Parts: sequence; C-alpha cells; structure tokens
Amino acid sequence: MPRPTDASAALFERARAVTPGGVNSPVRAFNAVGGTPRFIRSAAGAWLTDADGNEYVDLICSWGPMLLGHAHPEVQARVAEAVARGTSYGTPTEPEVELAEEIVARTPVERVRFVSSGTEATMSAIRLARGFTGRDIVVKFAGCYHGHVDSLLASAGSGLATFAVPGTPGVPVSSTELTLVLPYNDRAAVDKVFAEYPDRIACLITEAAPGNMGVVPPEPGFNAFLSETCTRHGALFVSDEVMTGFRASKLGQWGLDGAVEGWRPDLMTFGKVMGGGFPAAAFGGRADVMSRLVPEGPVYQAGTLSGNPIATTAGLATLRLATDEVYDHIGVAADTIKTAVSDALSEAGVAHVVQATGTMFSVFFAEGQVRDFESASRTDASAYAAFFHAMLDAGVYLPPSAYEAWFLSAAHDDRAVQTVLDALPDAARAAA
Ligand code: PLP
Repeated sequence: MPRPTDASAALFERARAVTPGGVNSPVRAFNAVGGTPRFIRSAAGAWLTDADGNEYVDLICSWGPMLLGHAHPEVQARVAEAVARGTSYGTPTEPEVELAEEIVARTPVERVRFVSSGTEATMSAIRLARGFTGRDIVVKFAGCYHGHVDSLLASAGSGLATFAVPGTPGVPVSSTELTLVLPYNDRAAVDKVFAEYPDRIACLITEAAPGNMGVVPPEPGFNAFLSETCTRHGALFVSDEVMTGFRASKLGQWGLDGAVEGWRPDLMTFGKVMGGGFPAAAFGGRADVMSRLVPEGPVYQAGTLSGNPIATTAGLATLRLATDEVYDHIGVAADTIKTAVSDALSEAGVAHVVQATGTMFSVFFAEGQVRDFESASRTDASAYAAFFHAMLDAGVYLPPSAYEAWFLSAAHDDRAVQTVLDALPDAARAAA
C-alpha cells in the first residue's frame, strides 16, 4: 500500500523553489526511480521516520557512515560533551590527534591529514602525488567515483589510453586532459598505459573495491597488481577507501586483500564511517610522501573546518565502538538479506546478480557477473525502480538508484531484517 507522502511532497515543493532539484546531493533525489523523495525527520538505530510519520528500515545508512546505526547513545553522549566545549576553534585539538592515532593504528597509513569531505581527500591526494613525483598524469577507472573533483569527473575518451573527456559541463577539457580512464579489472589496459607513458604517471587512483557503480569487487590479486605496477614505474598507488574504509571490514578493503597479501597503498583516502555521521574525511599514507605537505613540505593544502572537534570526536567514538562483533553482526545480517533477495528475485524470474566485498553488497538487475562499468550499465533500471517503490511502500528505504551499494549497521536487528525479508516477495514480483 502506498503510504501518505503529503508532508514530504509539500517540503519537496518548497525545496525545489530554493534548491536545484530540491536536494543538496543528486543521489538523494528520486529522479532515477520517480516519485517524491522522503524528507526524513528523525532516525534511531536501523529506522528512519519521515515527515509524514512513516517508518522505514534504512538500507542507505547515510550512504555508508552510520555503521553503528542512527543516534547511537555513546556517540551522541561524546558529541554532546564536545559541543558543550565549543564547536570549532581553528587551532589544533586533542580529538584530532586521537583520531589520527586510531586511523594509523588500524590502517597501513603512517601519517594522516583531515579534511571535511571525501572529495577534498581525493583532490588533495592527487595533488600530493603530483607534487611528490613531479609528474602530471593521473590514471583512474571508469565507474569509480572519487567525489566531484574536476579532473576526476572524467569519462573515457575514444579508445584505450587516450586522455579523458569532461564528464559534465563546467569541467574544462584542460582539467581532464591529464586524466586517463581505463576499464576496471583490466590488467592489460593498465600495462598498456604504463608502457605508453612510462615517466609521466603521477598516480593511479582506484576505489579499493568500487561501490559507486554497485559493488564490483576487484578480481583476486587486482589491487596487488596495481600496487606492484605503480611501484615498478615510480607512480603512487592511491587507494580510495572513502566508502570501503572501516565498512567493508574492520580494516576496510585493505583488510580483505592488502593485509592478507602483504602490500600497502602509497596513499589512501577515507571518509564516511570515520566521521561518525559528521563531515570528516582524511588522506594519509607513506610518511615520506605525507611530509611533502605544508607546513613540512611545499605542497599546499588547508581547510577552515578540517579536523573539526565535533566531527573528530564522533569519528573517534564510532571507530572505538566498531569492534569485530559489529562487523560479524553486519556480515550475518547482510548474508541473510542477500540470500533472501536472490531467492525472491529468482522465484519471480527476475535476472539479477548479488555482488559483495566484505560486508558491503549490492544487487544488480542484470544477467551475469559485473566486473566493470560496461557490464554494470546493463542493469535494468526500470525493473529496479519498480522493486524500489514496492520496498519503500512496505517500509524499506533502499538507495533510489540501481547502481549503489546497500548499507547495514550494527543496529539492524531481527525486527529490521525481518521487515526487509517480508517485503521481498511482492517487490520481486513488481520487478518482474
Ligand atoms: N570516494 C568515494 C569512493 C566515494 O564513495 C565518495 C562519495 O560517495 C567520495 C570519494 C566523495 O566523498 P564526499 O561525498 O564526502 O565528497
């Protein structure tokens, strides 16, 4: 049964008058699935409540950050104490040091610097890579999203190993003409560009496991191959863990491959979970590379709210509470939902494939394995839209796009998971 949406619709009307598309980030809009975005009034644990009073099991979790669930009492308490001490000083603070120490302890980075968004983190990392190597070309993969950095909003040019074209109006050709875009999971393409530009590639940046075209895990050994190739050619390997960091596993995607295989990225980027629901992100890596940043070195980078005491306090509380049990719990809930989605879609005769890396997963409405952007693009977006709305009407808030990961939290208990399972058969039939 469709639920009442009058209050959300009225807010959307007001929002559209003053904000393009009525949203402050495009993925929140329902353009891909149709209908009125729900305006959320409050959230607790695994549940969202919208302006009309409807409740939904949240499978977005703020696009990843809410690992512990919404309004976690311990995180709320630490944040309330921090707010009482003032909200921003523009000076160094203790929480920044503690969060940096926590990240250095949990990841292969030796030093870290905070920024306020994942976009800033990747932008700063590639600037640093260029400053460190004295080279200019950046290599990325089609379908990997690294925020709205001009030079990374690039689509593949015609043919392999040609420079990219801007992916949006407003990005001049001069901003993408030093970006090369390759198909994901394609070792031959990587070998070819390094052969073609042996001394010009500053860095290769990749999502540690892409989640922004849906979850497309790196094929076994792919990240190790990228790391080794970069090292051999004097380029830096930048692993973007804004989404996967502290999410795919306790040690992020690196915990699933690098830690096992024994290699480290030169630079990494983090965001989402490490901010505990506040705007905090970071880039870090090898000490010799990080020491090229101002004020130790010449590469400029700065930020008024970088390392903000509230955001770093929330992030620190979140990471400290993110124990093995949290990841085990999310893993079990994810497995239950993955199996049930697949069973329901199979029963209804809907072509699909469920893909995962660690506790992160997504459901492609497509035939066969998805290993790159080209195969991800075969997803049946209209079948997903029908599925999405049936789930929403049954009280489950999925990403309003067929190309996104589904996120769970430590607060997704039996009741929340059962609500998802109960909604699946009808939603699968709606997608058929
Ligand atoms: N990198 C990755 C892998 C992301 O998933 C995102 C955002 O979704 C970003 C970078 C950009 O982060 P932000 O939206 O905080 O700028």
